[in-house]
Amino acid sequence: NRRIVLASRPQGAPVPENFRLETQPIAQPAAGQVLLRTLWLSLDPYMRGRMSDAPSYAAPVAIGDVMVGGTVARVEASNREDFKPGDLVLSYSGWQDCAISDGKGLTKLPADLAHPSWALGVLGMPGFTAWHGLLKIGEPKAGETVVVAAASGAVGSVVGQIAKIRGAHVVGIAGGEKKCRHVTEELGFDACIDHRAEDFPHLLAASCPKGIDVYYENVGGPVFDAVVPLLNDHARVPVCGVIAQYNGDGTPLSGPDRLPSFIGLVLRKRLRVQGFIIGDHYADEYQDFAQEMGQWVKEGRVKFFEDVVEGLARAPEAFIGLLEGRNHGKLVVRVS
Ligand code: NDP
Repeated sequence: NRRIVLASRPQGAPVPENFRLETQPIAQPAAGQVLLRTLWLSLDPYMRGRMSDAPSYAAPVAIGDVMVGGTVARVEASNREDFKPGDLVLSYSGWQDCAISDGKGLTKLPADLAHPSWALGVLGMPGFTAWHGLLKIGEPKAGETVVVAAASGAVGSVVGQIAKIRGAHVVGIAGGEKKCRHVTEELGFDACIDHRAEDFPHLLAASCPKGIDVYYENVGGPVFDAVVPLLNDHARVPVCGVIAQYNGDGTPLSGPDRLPSFIGLVLRKRLRVQGFIIGDHYADEYQDFAQEMGQWVKEGRVKFFEDVVEGLARAPEAFIGLLEGRNHGKLVVRVS
């Protein structure tokens, strides 16, 4: 069993030395347990938070422990009534070839799924994140302007497509010309602006002639600075992630402290700025999401694109790349 453990905590951006590949004999399941073989491993930005022991909404991975992560796995051996060998399951077994489970937290997947890995993407956690943040907090109406950054990624790509279904004018923000072209041509956004362009704030303003009614926040940093002056009265800002800040230590990136002026703006423009952690919403909303998104995907109204990395050993470098924008689409590792 190959497994990737956290070797040390990163200072700033993670480096390959923060991870260690270990090999161990495959354990056999005891009574009440199953043995899982990982087929697909999801790589997600939140994992940067688990590598750190700074205070957060979830406990960090301990040094020497297997890196956490969502997986699609096959049951290899079972000492449980409810799972049999060959079953496909959604699991949280982390960065390893095989894992022992007592069945808790395993969700059976249909055997005939066209794209099993999409259970880690549009039909799973990132898709649910997009759906909840946009519809329950952003509440876009037809004709309003919705802006989302990391627009070619797992969450952003779905946010923009749902906003189009709701009749909004949708502007994406992405890194580089290739991603921007993909966002407009394949995903159907009305426009997409490269956040690395020198005149990015002006280009963004020009693509939002009626201001911004919903800004779905995925990145923070300088992108947020460019968005703030464009927010309309009563704009909604679902705060989903601030990936541009994950490698920082919390000290301001540059310039004067803008926090007092921002809180004044929240008041004057009656903004609704609301953070959320998707794990809080499974019990109440997941079934509704699964039904609606399943339908949209089946009808081809929501498209989904993956960036597939071959082999567990490449997970660390792929994860490091995710925090630099090197992925194009939902990042998944084909483990076996
Ligand atoms: P993506 O597939 O979008 O990949 C991450 C992307 O972020 C990169 O490709 C890059 O896109 C962009 N990015 C990285 N660094 C920067 C930077 N410095 N400035 C601007 N953009 C950057 O990831 P996900 O869709 O999985 O996640 C998107 C966001 O959603 C993250 O912030 C994540 O933490 C958050 N999230 C929050 C959840 C919650 O419960 N609140 C649940 C799931 C995700 P580009 O090259 O286009 O800039």
